[in-house]
Amino acid sequence: MPETALTVRDLVVSFHTRGGVVHAVDGIDLDLFVGEKLGLVGESGSGKTTLALAIMRMIKLPGRIHSGKIMLGDVDLLSVSDAKMREMRSSDIAMVPQGAMNALNPVRRIGAQIIDGLLDHGVGGSRESLQKRVQDLLEQVDLDEEIADRYPHQLSGGMQQRVTIAMAISLGPKVIIADEPTSALDVVVQRHVIDTFEKVQATTGTSVILVGHDMGLMAQFNDRIAVMYAGRVVEIAPVADIFARPQHPYTKLLVSSLPHTRKKEVMKGIPGLPPSLVERTPGCPFSPRCPYVMDRCSTDHPELLDGRPNSKFACHLPTGALA
Ligand code: SF4
Repeated sequence: MPETALTVRDLVVSFHTRGGVVHAVDGIDLDLFVGEKLGLVGESGSGKTTLALAIMRMIKLPGRIHSGKIMLGDVDLLSVSDAKMREMRSSDIAMVPQGAMNALNPVRRIGAQIIDGLLDHGVGGSRESLQKRVQDLLEQVDLDEEIADRYPHQLSGGMQQRVTIAMAISLGPKVIIADEPTSALDVVVQRHVIDTFEKVQATTGTSVILVGHDMGLMAQFNDRIAVMYAGRVVEIAPVADIFARPQHPYTKLLVSSLPHTRKKEVMKGIPGLPPSLVERTPGCPFSPRCPYVMDRCSTDHPELLDGRPNSKFACHLPTGALA
């Protein structure tokens, strides 16, 4: 069994709204191995961004982490003080956010912002050594050193996103959570940013969770993929298995909704809508949309259990039924 960098156990995150309690993350177990790239996919509202923010302990009211454990090595992130968590963010676990422009300070030059992050976490040294470190970081993400003197608005979206990757790796964290880092970019730039991220990950060996909904990009980057539906992981497997022989009907539909590269096809959606996360019904949450639904699906909730080697899925169908 590979060494685990991050372990999530029975994590529950809910949002208390006027319409009721929204169970955005509903009892998730997840392991991220050392040096692994794990993709989190699912439709909007599946809970993937909430899970990413919960791991960073960045859930804001009316949301709250109701219960569970998030172990980074042997430290439970849910039991450390706020001050300790601030210290651990960036130095032990870092985030590449959605929308780089919102994450960067518009009135501070890029180099100064990177140095601010280093100084905030106690990195000392001469002005020259800090500037050298900024240059090295920019180089790692394929940016010229002169970018350090620019303001965020003087950079393209792809360059801004590369800067956030440089910031995320600046303190050598063990884990990086990247929350749809390329969603605001056009397709060609997305590929280039993911290529850069892949190169950086290979150099640093950092374990990465990449959140996204573009199955093509996810296949390019990740070793394994966890598919989320209605606040739960419904399948987790090596990336090749997710595409070639999915075990959960929802995964199968997600994969088949990808346009075929050699035929002229438009993206097919998955018929039906995700369930309400307020009113939880018994049985499988995917049952109203599932082409394989059986009688027991409306009453028995399927647990996430072992399927093929190195994979798990949550469905009453037997292993290999969809092959
Ligand atoms: Fe479909 Fe039943 Fe499996 Fe749910 S448990 S995905 S409804 S076959």
